Parts: sequence; structure tokens; C-alpha cells
Amino acid sequence: MALSHNKLKFHVRTYGCQMNVHDTEKVSNLLLHEGWSAAASEEKADLLLINTCSIRDKAEHRLYSDLGLLSDWKKDKTPRVLGVGGCVAQQEGDELLRRFKQVDFVFGTHNLRLVPDLVTAALLGQRKAQIDTNKNPDRFDFPERHPDFEEKTPGRAFVTIMEGCDMFCRFCVVPLTRGREISRGWEAILSEINSLSRKGVVDVTLLGQTVNAYGRHDVKRGVMVKKGTKPFSDLIADIARVEGIKRVRYTSPHPMFFDQGLIDAHGSLPELCPHVHLPLQSGSNHVLELMRRRYDRETFGRLVQKLRESRKDLAITTDLIVGFPGESDLDFEETLEFVRDLRFVDSYSFKYSPRPGTPAKGDPGQVPAEVAQERLERLQALQGDLTLSYHRERIGSRTEVLVTGPSRKGGSQWQGRDPYNRVVNFTRGADEPPVGELVPIRVVEATPHSLIGEAFVPSVGLNERESQ
Ligand code: SF4
Repeated sequence: MALSHNKLKFHVRTYGCQMNVHDTEKVSNLLLHEGWSAAASEEKADLLLINTCSIRDKAEHRLYSDLGLLSDWKKDKTPRVLGVGGCVAQQEGDELLRRFKQVDFVFGTHNLRLVPDLVTAALLGQRKAQIDTNKNPDRFDFPERHPDFEEKTPGRAFVTIMEGCDMFCRFCVVPLTRGREISRGWEAILSEINSLSRKGVVDVTLLGQTVNAYGRHDVKRGVMVKKGTKPFSDLIADIARVEGIKRVRYTSPHPMFFDQGLIDAHGSLPELCPHVHLPLQSGSNHVLELMRRRYDRETFGRLVQKLRESRKDLAITTDLIVGFPGESDLDFEETLEFVRDLRFVDSYSFKYSPRPGTPAKGDPGQVPAEVAQERLERLQALQGDLTLSYHRERIGSRTEVLVTGPSRKGGSQWQGRDPYNRVVNFTRGADEPPVGELVPIRVVEATPHSLIGEAFVPSVGLNERESQ
């Protein structure tokens, strides 16, 4: 006899980027609408989904060791269902079912909406892999947030506006796992943001692998009206006008797709946060060419300058890869020098990891692991200095944080994120700070990873930009 979904609980383990985190939110919301409820832990779950990442080999190997351990989880209770989604699922498909008998179904990155059907089939004993490509933008459309949907960060939400990538950087697996670029219609995006705003969201992050490439193919082909897209900066301006939306962010842009409209938007739209995460990857032209990044350091540097001219307090963060095949000591020194010159506020840096199906995997000039490790440590030490120095410059300034909850440090410390996307730990005033709302803060101290602040009541309206 089939069990009623109302009695069943699910849990999702998520690895990887914000796109994966948001995919988990979408699937969780779908399951809630289907009558499932969220389990307090994996032990209490009848359905466990693993949302995988394949950007580096470490994450992929972790999945395989996790799946081995989950045989016991599966046997502990009947019925139990195990599904695997995300980028590894998209790449491996049926192979995961073949290698791991404990896996009941596999769902690719374009097939999130099929998860409830796949679960139902699994409960009837059918094992399936669904990894078809879906070019219809309606794959982005999901039901409104269910009343039981648990927000990770109240007041803040991700919204997918495009997915996939047509850039084919030589190290990157994303075009193979997320497919070609596809942009969602602006009406659907605005309708989702209006609905989120009605539920109390004030801070939206627009998501896409090359988010500022939004609609670019439709512009080139003259089919924007037919496809329901519009220039990215116009979309941001529309979103900034949605009642209740106070902060708009986007991630991750590609340096090639900043037009003047987007640069100007940073200077003219107060709702557009003064933070851009701008992936550089390497500061050496030689390596950028080997990577097929399609820009050089001079072009990147000019873009940074223009963005800072448009918004003088803009915080720029980046991604960097060290040890790409062919990266010499000199290339690496150029990266260090460029990072120092551009004064990134923060960076995510990694050692190059060869990925299956990518052209760089077989490249000559692979960098020995210990050399790559040493480069990574030097780069991260430099970034640590730059971040701390940025934090110190902020001491004495006023800002506004979206309150996320009590700080992990406990006591009277609370935590929030400021418009520059920095974590701020602050001492609460007499009243408990409202989670999911914006509160004014004075920065009083700097640490390597966060700012320390104190809540205050401004006598006049807070104006962050004046206070910088
Ligand atoms: S632009 Fe980004 S997502 Fe696209 S291939 Fe390059 S690194 Fe990967």
C-alpha cells in the first residue's frame, strides 16, 4: 500500500554554489506543496536528496564516499528513498544508479520539477535517471513559497534569472552540467519578486552562472520582446522599484558583460548594493589566455576603475585559481601584484582541479601539487591582509545590516550582513533586533573575517553613502 505523503519527511544535503543552495530551496518548496514535511535531521527523514557539486574533484569524491555510507541509512527504516541531483547527477546520470544500488533516482539540473514524480516512482519500486536538457524557460517557474517553507536567512531570497553558460572557459565543467545559457522572462521574474516582497523579503540576489549575460542572445537576435527579456540593467531598475525591495544584488557576473547601463546603475540606483563579485581567475595575461577567459588584465583593470568611478564605495570581491596548467612562477607573481593593485575586499581562491570533460584536463604544464599549495597560501595571506585593511578602513562608519540572528559567539552578540556583503557582529541594544529586517549599525572594530559593530538609533535618517 502506498504511503500518504503527509506522513513522510524529507531532508536535503546540499553542496556547492548559491545556485545549488537555491535549487535545494526550490525542490524543498515543491515537496512541501506535495504534502511532505521537512525532517529535523537525516535520521528522521524518509526521503534524502543529495544536491551535488562537481566544480572540484574534492566535492565529487565526497559524494561517492557519502553514498557508500548511506547504504546503512537506507536499511535502517522502510521505506526510505535516496535521490541524487545537481551537477554530478547531470554528468553521471544512469551510471550513478549502476554503481550505487542504494540510489533510487537521479535528477539533472534541468529536472527539478520532476522530483515529486521521481519520488512517487521510487516508492513504487522504480529506479530512474532523469537528466534531459530542457530549453523551456518555464523550468524556472515554481509555486509560491509554501507557508511551511523555512527561510535560511529571513528577509533575503535568491531569484534565478538565467542559467547555463556559453563561455566554455577551459577549466570549467559548468557548461556541461548546467547547459547553454537560457534567460527567464522578466514578467515571471518580477512576479516572483513581488510575491517574495509580500512575504517580507527585502534583499534579493539575482542568480545566474553569467548573470549579467541575461538576455544577451535575444538582444543580438532582435527577439527580446518575443522572448520576454530586456537589458539586464533595465531589469535591475524594475526590481529596484518593487515595493518593499530595499536591496538588489547579482551573482556571478562575467567581466565581459558589463555594459555602460550596468556600470551607471551602480551609481544611480540606491537599492543596487555597493558590492560586485567579479571573478578574475588569474592576473597573468598568459594564464588568462590559456584559460580562455576572453579578457586581459588591462580590460579587467579598466572595468574595476569604471565601476569604482560609478560608485566610489563599491566593494569588489573575486575568484582566483592557482596552479592552472602552464602557470609559471612569474605568472603567479603577476597575479599577486594585480590582486594587491586592485585591493579586492575578499576572494575565493582554489588550486586548479582537473575536471572530466574539460579541455584543460589534459593540458601540458600541470603544476605540482606542492607548488600550487604554496601559491595558494601566499595568495590567501595577501588577501587576508587586504581584507583586514578594508575592515579597518570601515571603523567609525555607519552601515545597515540585515539581521540574520544571534551570533555564534553567543551572549548579547547578534549578526547581520551589510550592503557590502560583509558579516557584521554587533551588540544589541535594549530591544531584541528584528531578524530579517534592516537595522542601523556603527562599525567599531575590525577582525580578519568580519566587522564588529553596535546598534544605534540615528537621530536623522541613515545615509550610508554620506557616512563612507
Ligand atoms: S564563465 Fe564561469 S561558468 Fe562559464 S565556463 Fe567560465 S568559469 Fe565556467
